[in-house]
Amino acid sequence: MRVRFWGTRGSMPVSLTWRDLRDRLAQVVVQAHGKPLDTLEKACAFVERELDFSLSHTYGGHSACVELLPPGEAPDQYVVCDMGSGARPFGAHVLARQAGRGATIHVFMSHMHWDHIMGFPFFGPAYAAGNRILIYGCHEALEHAFRRQQDPPSFPVPFSQLAASIEFVPLAPGKTHQIAGLRVTPARQFHSGDSYGFRFESGGKHLVYTTDSEHKLQDNEETRRIVAFFREADLVVFDAMFSLAEAISVKADWGHSSNVVGVELCQMARARKLALFHHEPANDDRAIERILRESRRLEELTRDAHRLEVVAAYDGLEIDL
Ligand SMILES: [Zn+2]
Ligand SMILES: [Zn+2]
Repeated sequence: MRVRFWGTRGSMPVSLTWRDLRDRLAQVVVQAHGKPLDTLEKACAFVERELDFSLSHTYGGHSACVELLPPGEAPDQYVVCDMGSGARPFGAHVLARQAGRGATIHVFMSHMHWDHIMGFPFFGPAYAAGNRILIYGCHEALEHAFRRQQDPPSFPVPFSQLAASIEFVPLAPGKTHQIAGLRVTPARQFHSGDSYGFRFESGGKHLVYTTDSEHKLQDNEETRRIVAFFREADLVVFDAMFSLAEAISVKADWGHSSNVVGVELCQMARARKLALFHHEPANDDRAIERILRESRRLEELTRDAHRLEVVAAYDGLEIDL
């Protein structure tokens, strides 16, 4: 199974500012000084190999949208979690790849906060007849939330005018469903208005997508439930929006978790890889890189025989399980 990230930012999309770009270019010019970079190939190799990630890349601006590619991919079929602003480039990818052929797109919704549905009005496949979009979720108001965001005066095209066939499919939390060749189990999470994590299994590989969830380690029974949900997952995509200090003080009960809690839960669950996700919009690339370094250091210091690999998700990242 492959996981492809189209949107990794929390709450609100962001982009680099002109100041970010200017400062970054200036630093690169200094680092490149005296090096024989007289061709584009040499310059690309220098950028790839010698620059810090936060100079050569960006953790990306789009809000939550994560594609799953199960093994033995079914043609004309797509699976995705959440419809944040990353759904716009994901939709463009689907249309380009399909080249006019109809597609079936399975969408799993963690919840309907705006950052998780805002990409849908810009999701190209919804405008093309011949496409079938199935939107799965555990909230009663799922369909209402999608329709309402396109009602006047908020958007020029009402939901009822979308040309694709769009169905809303309720899922029962705690039950395992067979969808698009995947075994899918939703679990309720602590978040304003509730959110749901999803555990996906295909070909013996397990992915847990758990965003917009405040995991409180003080509650033993709750911790046991979450650890069981994460158990031996090959990848856990985890809401690490806050620092631990924020998560247990000023921003307690705001419905998000920290990188520290992510490392601890994944260690307890013997998960293989943790992807920090739903990055705080106020954090620039250096701040996210620092959080990643701290998370890896924490993992090293607290490691027993089991090793957990930690990465920070960015728009465009692909992980093979
Ligand atoms: Zn969110
Ligand atoms: Zn939320």
